[in-house]
Amino acid sequence: MAQILPQDVVSRIKEETDIVAVVRHYMTLAPSGSGFRGLCPFHREKTPSFHVNPDRQIYKCFGCGEGGDVISFLMKIEAISFPEALETLARPLDIDLARYLREDESEGERVAFHRANEAAATAWRELLWSHEGREARRYLEGRGFAEEILRRFDVGWAPAGSEGFLQALRRAGVDEDLARRSGLVRQQEQRAPFAYFRQRIIFPIKNIAQRIVGFGGRILGQGEPKYLNSSDSAFFSKGKLLYGFAASRISIARLKTAILVEGYLDLLALAQHGFGNAVATCGTAFTSDQARLLRRGSPTVLLLFDGDRAGLQAAVRASHLALTVGLEPRVARLPAGEDPASLLQGGNRQALESVLAEARSYLPFLRELVAERGDDRRQKERALKRALGSLAQVPDAIRQEYLLQEASELFAIGLPVLRSQLEREMAAARSPRERREESAGSPPEPVKSGPGLQPGAGGLRSFTAINRPAIEADLFAHVLRDESGRAAELLLEECAGGGFATAETNLLHQELTAWGEARAAGGGESPAQYVQNRWHGRDESYRRYVSDLLTKEVIPRQADFAKVVRECLHRLAGDPRRSSKD
Ligand SMILES: [Zn+2]
Repeated sequence: MAQILPQDVVSRIKEETDIVAVVRHYMTLAPSGSGFRGLCPFHREKTPSFHVNPDRQIYKCFGCGEGGDVISFLMKIEAISFPEALETLARPLDIDLARYLREDESEGERVAFHRANEAAATAWRELLWSHEGREARRYLEGRGFAEEILRRFDVGWAPAGSEGFLQALRRAGVDEDLARRSGLVRQQEQRAPFAYFRQRIIFPIKNIAQRIVGFGGRILGQGEPKYLNSSDSAFFSKGKLLYGFAASRISIARLKTAILVEGYLDLLALAQHGFGNAVATCGTAFTSDQARLLRRGSPTVLLLFDGDRAGLQAAVRASHLALTVGLEPRVARLPAGEDPASLLQGGNRQALESVLAEARSYLPFLRELVAERGDDRRQKERALKRALGSLAQVPDAIRQEYLLQEASELFAIGLPVLRSQLEREMAAARSPRERREESAGSPPEPVKSGPGLQPGAGGLRSFTAINRPAIEADLFAHVLRDESGRAAELLLEECAGGGFATAETNLLHQELTAWGEARAAGGGESPAQYVQNRWHGRDESYRRYVSDLLTKEVIPRQADFAKVVRECLHRLAGDPRRSSKD
């Protein structure tokens, strides 16, 4: 999808926001040097390694590697998208994002996307309650759903043909191009466009701001797939949203518990019977982003999945994820062959209440599964190892200790043995980045191009003796620190082709190349500003890498950057004068 906002608006939002004030909203910060320090909210630690630098408006955790600017902080901690984070930050600054979102004469892509989705939802809702929707209504009534609940959740009906839907969109002012861009309509080569959802009961998925961002569709009758969801896009990410959360978040906060179910209809059944604190995954496995979303409102999550083998496996996985973000999972087990909707059918609220009341926490649940599967030793070993793998990632040390004691009792293994195994698990769970750095001694890729990177007298053999990722990091840290941009220009001159040791460095090099082009066209941003304004769309390891470079404390503000760049390039080229260890 196209660029959403002009860069200068993003810059302005960042400049006018006090990152320290935003971070303080979520954690305690103490002054430290020229910045602030606190316990990292993204990993478990006892001594603070999370730093906020107000001058550079960035944060960095030296424990887990998480780092970025105020926008990425909000995205991560609130589990929200880039546009949502911008919106949140722009509001108190009185910056009208909608104004910037207007493209040319038309509206901005995001506003248009919402408008198209609202129009589609309206069309489908009307179809459900029209003559055309009678078959779908009969099915839903048969499963015990009342009109009130279907209307409350804007349930709709997408008929088998496309024409009626396309007409309804047109009447609502959504042209074919927008319908296509929003994923509501598809087209194959020269054929006529067709509706993506057909012959399906439609469940609109809302974000926290109550905007419809996507849909789930359940087939009526036979057909594959049984469930179809909107494709992920710049404005919709299934793994970051929970169906029903917009409606249930207040109830979740009040009850301090969320009920997690796997299906749209399960959620509707719960809501209809007064369980207002339910959420559902949108046709995907439970993700850590979703777990973090829930943790904002409640310390506990009740997992209410089907009682079959797949459901139990999903419950184990979801429990693990919940524990790792600091949620307390409890598994409620449905009688075999039942799902929440079938159990509640006929108004049997009591039946579900007792299922929920008997929910087990994670370790007793695992122990119970082992007992049911014959209780043999290998099963126990496997379950216990799995449990310790989860415990290793529990962010709260006290909870971790209690869970360890509980495991010791349940599986009848002495605490010291479990503790030493747990320590091993914790070492293994350390960030992949740390491990990657430890194994950085392996021979790097041959250099592709760039005069500054040609192997020197020592040839390729000398490459194995130098730590290329470390030298590259040094090089790029200096390039980013030089606000004049001269160091970056020198780098681009000396090695235009890239060919660095890591994917992150190569991407950063590409970004700097783009910066060079922007500067040639009159752009005034420094390399660091430019790179930061574009890092949100990239993957997390890249952002972490760049924020590492931006926070290298050893680099003075004023230095002979060009000299350092030349030195680093020499060392990378295997200059025998520099690589003395060869
Ligand atoms: Zn951390």
